Amino acid sequence: MSANRRDFIKYVVAGAVASGCPIDQTLLAAPNDTAPQVEGEENRICHQVRDGHTFTLPPATKRHDVVIVGGGISGLTAAHLLQHRDCLLLEKEPHFGGNAYAMEHDGMAFSTAAAYTEVEVADWLASEIGMEKLPIANWDGTIIQGEFIPDTWGDGLDHLPYSQSIRESFKKFRHEMLGIDVENRIAELDNQPFSNFMKGYAPEIQQWWDGFGPSNWGAVSNESSAALGIWAVQFAGGEKRVDNRYTWPGGLGAISKRYTELLRPKMGERMVGGATIVSVAQQKHEAHVTYMHAGALHTVAAKAVIMATPKFITRRIVHGLPQKQNDAMGKIRYQPYPIVNLIFDQPIFNKGYDNWCPGNRFTDFIVADWVVRNKPGYKQKHNILTCYTPLREHERALLLTEAGAQKIAAEVLHDFQMLFPGSDVNPKEVHIYRRGHPLFMSTPGQYTKTMPLVREPMERVFFANTDSEGPESTTAMAIQAARRAVKQAEARLAGKPVAA
Ligand SMILES: Cc1cc2nc3c(=O)[nH]c(=O)nc-3n(C[C@H](O)[C@H](O)[C@H](O)COP(=O)(O)OP(=O)(O)OC[C@H]3O[C@@H](n4cnc5c(N)ncnc54)[C@H](O)[C@@H]3O)c2cc1C
Repeated sequence: MSANRRDFIKYVVAGAVASGCPIDQTLLAAPNDTAPQVEGEENRICHQVRDGHTFTLPPATKRHDVVIVGGGISGLTAAHLLQHRDCLLLEKEPHFGGNAYAMEHDGMAFSTAAAYTEVEVADWLASEIGMEKLPIANWDGTIIQGEFIPDTWGDGLDHLPYSQSIRESFKKFRHEMLGIDVENRIAELDNQPFSNFMKGYAPEIQQWWDGFGPSNWGAVSNESSAALGIWAVQFAGGEKRVDNRYTWPGGLGAISKRYTELLRPKMGERMVGGATIVSVAQQKHEAHVTYMHAGALHTVAAKAVIMATPKFITRRIVHGLPQKQNDAMGKIRYQPYPIVNLIFDQPIFNKGYDNWCPGNRFTDFIVADWVVRNKPGYKQKHNILTCYTPLREHERALLLTEAGAQKIAAEVLHDFQMLFPGSDVNPKEVHIYRRGHPLFMSTPGQYTKTMPLVREPMERVFFANTDSEGPESTTAMAIQAARRAVKQAEARLAGKPVAA
C-alpha cells in the first residue's frame, strides 16, 4: 500500500501521559523539604513539584467519614462498598475507570486497556452490580507466518508453522512447566526470572512469552517472576484447563461504566472528577486531603483515607510514610503501554478472541465485540480490533508527543497489514490511547517481598489499587485491594484494631 493511501486514514490520539497533576503554576509556593510531591510523567509543573516545590495548603472546609483517592476500579469498588457512609471519591481525570475505561465508535464500545477478568470476579460483579456474565470460551490463538493457529497452548502446538523439532521443543517446555508445583515453591519461583526455565529450548518459545509477558504483566521473560510465567503456561496448557475468562463489549471499561451509573445518583457531589490530589496528611484525630479542582485548592478532612492511586504517585503525596514502605513503593516499576484500536468498516478478523502475534510492534489483538457477536439480532457494524502495544521503559518518551504516539500507531497498522492474507486493508480510523505508567511490572521478588510492605496500613491511611496486591496487575486484584482497604477503614471508624 502506498504512503498516500495511508494519509487518508484518520488518526485519533487520546489519553493523558502526564499522570499526576495539571496544576496552575501560580499555586506553587517556595521549596520546602517536607513538601508532598506529585510526579507527572511529562508535565513541566509536576516536575517542579517533584523537585521540591510545595503548595500552600488551605484549611479543611468539609468533613467526611472516608475520602477515596483515585477512581479506577479499586476506588470505584471502595466507593460501592462504602455507599452507606458519607464518603467522597476524588479522581484526577474527567472520567472514572483508570485503566478500565472504554470508548465508543458509532455506538460500538472498545477497550482502551483492560480486556477480561476471571470467573470469581464476574460472579461477584453479577451479584453486586448486576452485570450479565459473558464468557469468552475461546483459547488464545497465534498468528505466525500469515497463518492463524487456534488454541496455541492446547492442540495448537501440533500445528505451529515451524519445523518438527521446534514444535517438539514447545511441547517439551509445556510438559516441564505443567510438572512444577508453584504453590509449594512460590518463594523460590517468585524470586527468579521466568527465562531461567527456557534455557535449552527453541528461541521461538522465549519470543512467544516475550510478547505474552509484557502484554499481561509488564515484563519480558528475563524480567518476569518465574512463578507468574509458569502459572500462565499451566492455565493455557493444563490437562484439566477451563477457560474461565469473562468480558463485555468495551472490555473491563464496562465495569467502570456500570459502577459510575449506579454510584452517581447516590453520591452526587461526593463523586468528583477533574480533582487532582496533591497532599494527604494525617493529623491527630483525622486526615487532611488537599486537591486541585477547577483551578483552586481545597482541603477536606476525613476519619479515614483510602489511597487507590498507583504507588509511584501515592508515595509522593502521602506525608509521613515509613521509610521502608516508601522505599518499597519506589521499587515498583511501571510499563508504558498504549493501546491502538483499528476500526474497519468491513469484517477483517473474527476467528479468535485474543490473538498473539510474535515479532510485531503489538503483541496481541482482541476482537472488541467477541462476547456479543453471536447474540440474536446483533450485527457487527464495524470490526474493531484492539491492538495491545506494550513498550519498553526506554520508549516511554515516544508517548509524550502526538507525533510520537502517531508513529507508534502507524507502526502497529503497518505490522497488522502484513500479518495475514486479507489484513492489508485500510481501517476507517486508528485510535491510540496513551498511558505512561499504567501497568506495574511483575518483576522477580515483587509479589513475595515488596507487596506485603507496600500495603501496610497507616493510622488513618489505607492502601488500595492493584499494585498493593500482585502477583499481576489485574482488575481482580484492584477489587481485592479495595475490599481489604474498606475493611481497614471500617475498623478505624469503629475504633477497632486494624488488621494488615
Ligand atoms: C493495556 C492494559 C491491559 C490490561 N488488561 C487487563 C486485563 O485484560 N484484565 C485485567 O484484569 N487487568 C488488565 N489490566 C490491568 C488493569 O487494568 C488494572 O489492574 C486495573 O484497572 C487497576 O485498577 P486500579 O483502580 O487499581 O488502578 P488505576 O486504574 O491505575 O486507577 C487509579 C486511578 O487514580 C487516578 N489518579 C492518579 N493520580 C491521582 C491523583 N493525584 N489524584 C486523583 N486521582 C489520581 C488515576 O487517574 C486512575 O483513575 C490491563 C492494564 C493495561 C494498562
